[in-house]
Amino acid sequence: MEFLANSKIIRVCGVEPESIVDGPGFRYVLFVQGCPHRCKGCHNPESHDPEGGFDMTTGDVFREIQENKHLRGVTFSGGEPFEQAEALVELARMIKGAGLSLMCYSGYTLEELQARHDPWTDELLLMTDILVDGRFVESQRNLTLIYRGSENQRVIDMNKTREAGEVVLYKSDFDIDVII
Ligand code: SF4
Repeated sequence: MEFLANSKIIRVCGVEPESIVDGPGFRYVLFVQGCPHRCKGCHNPESHDPEGGFDMTTGDVFREIQENKHLRGVTFSGGEPFEQAEALVELARMIKGAGLSLMCYSGYTLEELQARHDPWTDELLLMTDILVDGRFVESQRNLTLIYRGSENQRVIDMNKTREAGEVVLYKSDFDIDVII
């Protein structure tokens, strides 16, 4: 039975309280601990071990987010956020309730996440505004890409994707890999 709505534990690798490189605008970035994908050339190998890192409650994280009134949104990165979908749903509800946008990274593709048929995964996807999906593939690494590291990964506009019923890629003024 759940007694508190802000008490789920998230295993955390680290946080970046104010970033301008992990999504549009000023964003709080939560790097979760634990990743099953083990991509060769991963930028954050210390995040792989699910036993590593430290615990924070969803309430702890949200209090930090609320301290910064300049934030436009929050980004869940990793590690693999969708391995902790249940706790992140609780946090995402708070984030969306505060009017902030939510961006999520995942080593899974959108189609792999949808094929889980897991209610927490589905709800986290439903609250996600931008999803960067797919594993990092070293042979497709490209330093000119925005918000992603390799060509196979997609930056997906989830709101437009839900409207269209098919994948719509995110575009911004700074989307240099699309302009080139
Ligand atoms: S999905 Fe991300 S964190 Fe996980 S191994 Fe691949 S690059 Fe690293």
